[in-house]
Amino acid sequence: MWGGRTGALLRVWGLWPAGVLGRRPLSCNAASLAGSNSPQCWNCGGPGGPMRGDGFFCPQCRALQPPDPTRDYFSLMDCNRAFRVDTAKLQTRYQDLQRLVHPDFFSQRSQTEKDFSEKHSTLVNDAYKTLLAPLSRGLYLLKLHGVEIPEGTDYEMDRQFLMEIMEINEKLAEAQSEAAVKEIESVVRAKQNELTDNVSRAFEQDDMEKAKEMLTKMRYFSNVEENIKLKKIPLQ
Ligand SMILES: [Zn+2]
Repeated sequence: MWGGRTGALLRVWGLWPAGVLGRRPLSCNAASLAGSNSPQCWNCGGPGGPMRGDGFFCPQCRALQPPDPTRDYFSLMDCNRAFRVDTAKLQTRYQDLQRLVHPDFFSQRSQTEKDFSEKHSTLVNDAYKTLLAPLSRGLYLLKLHGVEIPEGTDYEMDRQFLMEIMEINEKLAEAQSEAAVKEIESVVRAKQNELTDNVSRAFEQDDMEKAKEMLTKMRYFSNVEENIKLKKIPLQ
């Protein structure tokens, strides 16, 4: 009894052993097809309500169902659980989902459905934002594989890399013109593109250590990008 429950919790928190997730070819809607112990519809008590049909509305009474806590962002956004995502498709899915669950469409419905629509809408926003940017998408995917990078640690970064970041930050601090800032910006962007390719390759090869290292580097460059934005404000 506890085994099944623990398994479900591990899946929810992304702690399922990496080998299991890594080798299982996940299709887009795997989570919505999961298991036969689907909860009943809160409104009409219909069997397996939220797990059938589109997963959002009860197929019998059409009442909006609560979000499925076992469903990850990739499943929600109808993407393969992989680092490479089709961002145009992601955007279309985001718009489609907001058309289904946005609170504006529930103003005449029950309070329960209003609350559920708020939850769905927030979840869809978070999923979209997380999967859109390579850094947050990579960190999320890593987390689903049971690997997390603690905030603010110099996770085994080599000296040479830290020196490189320090030099870029120094150059940025000394930059006096818009052109100088733009030059630094393009260097950082090129670095991020290169790292994104490396992260992609690491995930394709199931090399979570490599992905972790590359994503940590991306996070450093992302901080530099924030500094660039701040520097640009008084120049404009
Ligand atoms: Zn129902």
